[in-house]
Amino acid sequence: MPDILARPEPSLIPIVRPRCPTCQGRMVLTRIEPGRSSPDLRTFECSKCELIYKVLAEDQVKID
Ligand SMILES: [Zn+2]
Repeated sequence: MPDILARPEPSLIPIVRPRCPTCQGRMVLTRIEPGRSSPDLRTFECSKCELIYKVLAEDQVKID
């Protein structure tokens, strides 16, 4: 269950952090590449197994 909506902080951009597809660990947002005519490319890194996971902002994976 995501804990992002539970505590809204103005200084933080609400970004859904996906779970690692390999080890189900919490992934950390390491980089955002802004796109001009395309959605931002967000790079996540798993804190456990260091897997790199890239996702377009418009194309976010929702894991319920
Ligand atoms: Zn992992």
